[in-house]
Order: sequence, then structure tokens, then C-alpha cells
Amino acid sequence: MLSERVNRITLSPTLRINARATQMRAQGIDVIDFSVGEPDFPTPDAVKRAGKAAIDANFTKYTANDGIPDLKKAICEKLERENGLRYAPDEVIVSAGAKNSLFNVAMSLYDEGDDILIPAPYWVSYPDQVRIAKANPVFIPTREEDGFMLQPRDLAAAITPNTKALILNYPCNPTGAWYSREELEEIARICVREQIWVVADEIYEKLLYDGKRFTSIASLSEEIKKLTIVINGFSKAFSMTGWRLGYAAGPREVIAACSKVQSHNTSNATSFVQKAGVVALSSCAMEVERMRQEFERRRGAIVYRMRSLPGVSCASPPGAFYVMPNVGAYLDKEFGGAPLRNTYGLSYYLLKEAHVAVVPGEAFGTDRHVRISFASSMERIEEGCRRIAAALARLEEPKRLRPRALNNVATKVADYVETRAAVGLATRNDMLAECEKHMPSDAYFEWNAAIAGIVVQLRTSSPHLADFYQENFYPAPLEGELEPHAVVYAVKDVPGREASAAISAETNTGFVFNTAFYGQVRSLALQLAADAAARSTGSLFAHCAALDVDGSGVLLWGGPGSGRTGILAAALRQDGVRLVASDSVLVRFAAEPVADLIERKLYLKAKWAGKFPEIGKFLERSKLENVVTSRDACHVDHPDDVCPLDRGAAACIEASKRGRLMLDPYWLAGGRRHVRRTAPKVAVLLVSDAVLPLVKDVEPREAARMLSGGQLPGTSGKALPFLNPHLAGLDGDRADLLRSQHERLFAATKVVLLNTAIGGAEAAAKRLLELVR
Ligand code: PMP
Repeated sequence: MLSERVNRITLSPTLRINARATQMRAQGIDVIDFSVGEPDFPTPDAVKRAGKAAIDANFTKYTANDGIPDLKKAICEKLERENGLRYAPDEVIVSAGAKNSLFNVAMSLYDEGDDILIPAPYWVSYPDQVRIAKANPVFIPTREEDGFMLQPRDLAAAITPNTKALILNYPCNPTGAWYSREELEEIARICVREQIWVVADEIYEKLLYDGKRFTSIASLSEEIKKLTIVINGFSKAFSMTGWRLGYAAGPREVIAACSKVQSHNTSNATSFVQKAGVVALSSCAMEVERMRQEFERRRGAIVYRMRSLPGVSCASPPGAFYVMPNVGAYLDKEFGGAPLRNTYGLSYYLLKEAHVAVVPGEAFGTDRHVRISFASSMERIEEGCRRIAAALARLEEPKRLRPRALNNVATKVADYVETRAAVGLATRNDMLAECEKHMPSDAYFEWNAAIAGIVVQLRTSSPHLADFYQENFYPAPLEGELEPHAVVYAVKDVPGREASAAISAETNTGFVFNTAFYGQVRSLALQLAADAAARSTGSLFAHCAALDVDGSGVLLWGGPGSGRTGILAAALRQDGVRLVASDSVLVRFAAEPVADLIERKLYLKAKWAGKFPEIGKFLERSKLENVVTSRDACHVDHPDDVCPLDRGAAACIEASKRGRLMLDPYWLAGGRRHVRRTAPKVAVLLVSDAVLPLVKDVEPREAARMLSGGQLPGTSGKALPFLNPHLAGLDGDRADLLRSQHERLFAATKVVLLNTAIGGAEAAAKRLLELVR
């Protein structure tokens, strides 16, 4: 299994777009690549010569880990000459690129629990580097109308006792935002007052336009210098991206820590590249200025073109080589009936239809813009802009207005925790007191659900749990004087407690602590209702799926990995098949048993939407939990690395392993695929076994015994009595009762083992339907 850390990060979106553009080019398509993050100029000749000379002189071995002395000296001189900054050589470290320097700083400075402030839009690597260091990226939004500049009042408001550092990048990738000396002074004042570190990424320092002059924040005062780590590199100014050379300068102890980190990682920047770096710093000013002038000319052209697109606004960036046109007006449009939805969708459309690669703003933390690099020749810029204009003009108005965002809640705990039995009144009372203490009156929700005639009340401090509970169950027509039969308490932010759940069967009370995962509450509510129903009317809560086939019921048991969802989906594609319940029914024993769905809506795993495309269409109408809606949260290896989210889809179902949706079953085929009650005729236990026949009859008693043991042939994982995860503290008496109830049910139906070891879901569904028809 991969580490938690790596699961929190994603491949840079710019790299993904680049890779796709390269693929298309390999197929002979002329893609104009506006996604590039590097100048299209050659590295200066003098630098190349110096690199070659160093190789010829056999300067090809390990160097000092923090950089060769002559390069460190040249960096110190550069910082003094150009930025008015005095650093000693041991306050400078040379790395394999500015990105490497930033990474060293992240590992040296950021701790678990630290908040690191990042003005948004931001360069894509900052948040992931912070996450790798186990700290939290905290974004401070900036506004287009402020030129995407960090406003001092927003900075001051974002600082808390947990704030450790501010990452300040100017000129900024992607917005070009830049700060004058006066503007920097205000930011510096706040950082000094609050004593937070400033990681100043100055890599675009040389690319400023309209006669603007660069000021390094560290040069403003000794106080701010002590708190600043200056990051710079050779990639942009000297067109040396592939050489991998950058550096950091700052307080001695921070640089020493960076050096320690680097000594266990890259060791040193490439030896002969360092020699070439000396020459870049000392004798390439002319090439840099020539490149800057060319970028300024292109900037004028691209801003003009962008502004001439209907509905698009585009700020003229003071620095760097990117523009960020606001394309919000196009995000509601569609092409061939498919909505674009977001900047990923628009970027994908432009790549496919216009053969122009741009980077979606969402990758940088803005949902209205795309990033277009003008590090391409003037001819390519003109041609690319023409193509973009034509492609945007082809977009259609949507036929109906679609909501763009899904109604999705991410919970910290996203799966079941074990429900323990709370034995004894004293334990129950202690838990109750603890819950009441942590349910503030201004965040208290209470709701009565009618579950199989049993009134189960939820008392919670979580709006999400209250919301899902109300959606899941029918309301109980409870008059003022009546008391509920059972109560579930669900409280969050209880100090000193893990995510946990408990059930007190004797007092009909359930407890959920510190998890907002709705499945846990539903499980307790069903369990309490099942106990009460068994006691009062002798009916059975069976943990199985139920289909109705032309009026006859099929109940279907299958453990984890049994393929039950796929078989249900395949069966539901056939005429006359309707879904009763996905995982739980109430069986009443009359002359013949009947099975009822007792929930108003189905709480389904998101994978249903993958197996049953019709459900995918309902995502926008459903309440969702832990569905992956952001590309950064998708860690699935898609073929060609194309995630549905890259194409503008609202969710990636494949990545939503822990995702759930609350589906109204009457939406299925306009109500034609759902019925609330069926008369069970066949009970099916799914097995997977190489030697068993495809279908095998079993005696009622044997089937009940197999189920109560919880391990059907070919199932994996822990044995779950009755394949039911919702039976906490199942004692001998209750187990006996459940077994006899199942036996009674099976005596009234045909019971078979359906072997899924051979053939797919379609074949299994076909056999299943033959059993009833
Ligand atoms: N910072 C910013 C803002 C950048 O845009 C980049 C390159 N895209 C870097 C740092 C990394 O530069 P290097 O090639 O020196 O690692």
C-alpha cells in the first residue's frame, strides 16, 4: 500500500496536460502548447560553453553538498548587487532547481499541525509540498480586480496561532501579480509583528514589464530578513529549466537544516551545471534583457487577443509569462450536449477541439480562469488565439440550466468503526451525560424517523448527519406527548475520544462519537429498529438486497467482494425487474412472507453509479458523501491518465471508493424500476467456488446455518454473522432468534447457492432471473 502522504498529493496538472499534448503531437496533431512553464529561448551560449568546459576538465564528481564555493560566492554577490541583500556563503544553499530548494525549506520548517499561508491562485507545487511535510496549506483568495495581489487586511485576517509561514511568490505564477516596495512594506510589517516566516519565491524576478523594478522583501529591514528565506533559480531568467539549478538564502540555521535534508536526498546540484551557473550570474545580463523585451511584446499581443473574445476579461500581468483570462462566461455552455462545467472541462474541450493546451485554473485555486503561457513564438500565439476564439464561438447555450456543483460533504472518518455494546445502565448514563455536554444549544438537531413502525430519534450536533437522516427515513407522525422507542446520539468534537460507536440494547440507545460518516448513524438506527420490531411483531430485518421480478421477490445475500452490486445492476437492465432494496429489508411473516423497503431513500455506495449509468445522472440531484469531485483528490491510475474530472465531469466515481449517495429509488426509469414491497419466492446466497455447481438448492436449515456463520464459500474477509455488519453485541439468544427467523423465511421460499466463480455479472444475473421465471 502507498503511504498516506503520497495519497494526499497528485501529479502536477501542468505535467498531465503537457503529457497529453505530447501524445497528441505523436499522433501527428499540431497542438499549440500554451501550458508550458518555461521560456522558449535557448540557454545563453556562454553558459553552455562553461558547462562543456567543466565536463572536459573532469569536473564531474560529487561537490560540497550545499554548492561549490565559487557559485555560492557568485550568488552572494548577485544578491548584494541586484537585491541589496548581504548574505554570507553559509547562509546560501545551492539545489537542483528552485523547486528542490522549496522542498528543502518545507522539510526543514513546516511541522504537522502548522498552517502555511498561500495566496491563491498559487503555483501548483506549494500546497502539495506543504502536505508532504504534513502541514496544512491555508489559502488566501486574491481578486482579479485587485490584480490578484495579496491584500494586507486579508493576510492579517488569515493569521492564527497555528500560522507558521507565508509563501509569497512575485511576480506570480500563474497571475503575474507583483508588489511595489510600499506594498511589500505593509506585508512585511504584518509578518514581523506576528513573527511568521516568509518563503519568498523570486524566480520570476527578471521578468517584469512596464518599467517596474523588483524589490526583494528581505531587503526591507533586518527584522524581515531574519524571517525570510529567499528562493531563486536559473530556470526562468537564463532559460535553463533542464539544467536543474536553484538556490535558497536565509538565516544560517534554516540553511543548515536545508543542507541536512538535501544531504540525504539529491546530495548536490550537478557539478558542471554549478560551474555554468557562475557564468550565468556574471555575464548573461544582455540575453536576459533581450528575452524580457520579447516577452513584453508578446504579452501585449496576447492580452489584446484575449480581451477581444466576447465575455472574457483579462488583466495585463505586470510580470512572469502567463495571462489568466477569466472564462467564467463559458463554463455554463455545452458542446454536443455535454456541459463544460468547470475550467477542467473547458481546457479539455480546447485541447480536443482547438488543439490548444491551456492549464485549468482549478489547478491553481481559481475556478473562473485558465492559464495561458506566452512562452511561445508570436506566430504560435496568434494562431493559438485564433483557434481558441473559433472553438469558444462553437459552444452552445445549455438546453436547461444545470447546477454546477454537487451537494457533497466530505467527512474526516469515511467508513464504519466497530460498534461496541454498552453494557450496564451506568455506562449508558455516562455516555449520555457526555453527549449532552457536547451538544451546544445553537448546534443541536433532533428528528424522529419512522422505521418499520418504530420511532427512532436522532439527536446530533452535526448538520450533515441530521440532513442525511431526514433524507434517508420517513418522518414519524409523533404527537407531542409520545416518546420515541429508541434514540441515537451523534456528537462531534468530543475531546479525548476516538471515532467510536456504542449500542445499549437494554435501553434502546445508540451513541456515535466523533465521526460524521452517516453510515454509522444509519446502522445504529436500523439495528435499534430491528430489535424493537423483532420483539414486538416478530418480523425480521434481513441484511440482503431485494428485487421484484414480475411480482415475485428475489432476496440476495452476498458478502464483500461477492459482486452483488454488479449482478443487481445487470438484472435491473432486464424488462420486468425492479429494485426493492439495496441492502436491507423488513420481512413480515403473514400467510406468506412479504419484504418491504423501510427507508425513504437508498444510501448507496458510489460504485452503484459506475455500475448503473442511469444513477450517474442523478448525482446532481442527490445528497452525496465523500464523493471525489476534485482532481487533486483522485488517486486512481486512469488509462492515458485521463480522469473523468479532467474532462469536466462533476465526480470521479472510480476514485470515490468511500463515496455514498442518497438515491430516491423512484427516480429509476421514472419510477418503473422500483417497488416498495415484494413477495419473496427465491432466496439466493452468492458463493464463489470452483467445484460447486452453478446453481445448487439448499435446505432452509442449512442455509440459515451458513448465513449465521457468516462465511459463504468463496467469500473473503472477516466472518460476519448473517453477513450483517450492523449486529453489535450479538448474543446467543438473539443469534438463535435470528437463525430461526431466517429458517422460517427460507422454508417459505426456494433457497439456492448461486455460484459466481464462472462467467461475469451478466451471466449470474441471467441465471438468477431464470430461477423466478
Ligand atoms: N517557483 C515557481 C513560481 C515556478 O513557476 C517554478 C517553475 N515552474 C519554480 C518555482 C521551479 O523552478 P525550478 O525549475 O528552478 O525548479
